[in-house]
Amino acid sequence: MYEELKKADKEIYESIRGEVLRQQNKLELIASENYTSKAVLEALGSVLTNKYAEGYPGKRYYGGCEYVDIAERIAIDRAKKLFKAEHANVQPHSGTTANITAYLSLINPGDTVLGLNLSHGGHLSHGHPLNFSGRYFKIVTINVNKDTELIDYDEMEKIVEKERPRLIMAGASNYSRIWDWARIKKMADQWKAFLVTDIAHYAGLIAAGIYPSPVEYADIVTTTTHKTLRGPRGGLILSKASYSKAVDRTNFPGNQGGPLMHAIAAKAVCFGEALKPEFVNYQKQVLSNARKLASCMSDMGYRIVSGGTDCHLFSLDLRSKNVTGKEAEKALDKAGITVNKNTIPYDPQPPLITSGIRVGTPAITTRGMKEKDMENIASFIDEAIKNQKNETALKEISSKVERFCAQFPIYTGFEN
Ligand code: PLP
Repeated sequence: MYEELKKADKEIYESIRGEVLRQQNKLELIASENYTSKAVLEALGSVLTNKYAEGYPGKRYYGGCEYVDIAERIAIDRAKKLFKAEHANVQPHSGTTANITAYLSLINPGDTVLGLNLSHGGHLSHGHPLNFSGRYFKIVTINVNKDTELIDYDEMEKIVEKERPRLIMAGASNYSRIWDWARIKKMADQWKAFLVTDIAHYAGLIAAGIYPSPVEYADIVTTTTHKTLRGPRGGLILSKASYSKAVDRTNFPGNQGGPLMHAIAAKAVCFGEALKPEFVNYQKQVLSNARKLASCMSDMGYRIVSGGTDCHLFSLDLRSKNVTGKEAEKALDKAGITVNKNTIPYDPQPPLITSGIRVGTPAITTRGMKEKDMENIASFIDEAIKNQKNETALKEISSKVERFCAQFPIYTGFEN
């Protein structure tokens, strides 16, 4: 693979080669990333990228769609089966476009939306002022409780009663505990709000049945397909049958043009993989690894936000180590460990500095790492943070990390 690219475009070939080596030689602890299978990559790199297919299977605005129709129908059927959903739209280009479609299927610009504060774990598309969500809707936010760092449902209910949002957006990019979907549904019903749940982070765990599913409660569920679900980059919308027309129409022609048929075929492959029993074992291991890594870090004196995790991620509060999230991210990168800085709830530091880092296990678990490997990883992280200003030490750690990673090869399409 890549021989033609090497000849045709050396600069891009070299950038891909650099990324291949980075993915092979470094420890990927970004909670929203993963390694897709070879089959997903093949579908993604297929000639389906050449095809225009505006519309939906059987109702296209272009000829020649008989084969892409097959792929999209399979993707829809598998998504519905995987999440026990009444309707699935597999076309959103991303999680953000899925959320735009979800909002505009149910409410109008100017309406009030309630979401989790970004600096408490929410996502940009749940109401950040610079995002479409914050620009087109009136946003009210909830925070996590200062003491427990958990969603405070009593407080949430008071805000819903006072602000009367038309839509509650429940979901997060950085919340490691279980969402009480049933309780939020009760609130939504009582105060006549629509309920949208964004399961982008938890989707793989939910598909495997080891994290509660909101599908029976929510009017619309949105997700990405590339995080714990381990598929290609993209979005997915699930909904009650009664919203199927609104969702499909809002996605196309409302919010997108031609669907990315190569990505839809790759989503179908990913859903097929997720329907297999091995996927349940994988997700169990993701959770076990996250809990083990969090407990190793806690034993080394790091505070875990909310005290632990029920999913694939957790946040470390670095204040007791006298290092900011920004400094830790940089030092860890030099040591061959990739994480992202993240605000902790009620963070005294601004968002570009932060007091924490977010750590996730989906990618390292795909590589085959198990609980005992988490002990090594925790030591690498601790050593790097302790030596954050010592370039020589960081370089030595990165060599150790590279040797460690070599025991867990990934498929990259490169021979060497
Ligand atoms: N929703 C949540 C909860 C996310 O964490 C993310 C991405 O991190 C998204 C939506 C947006 O996905 P995308 O980056 O595909 O637009």
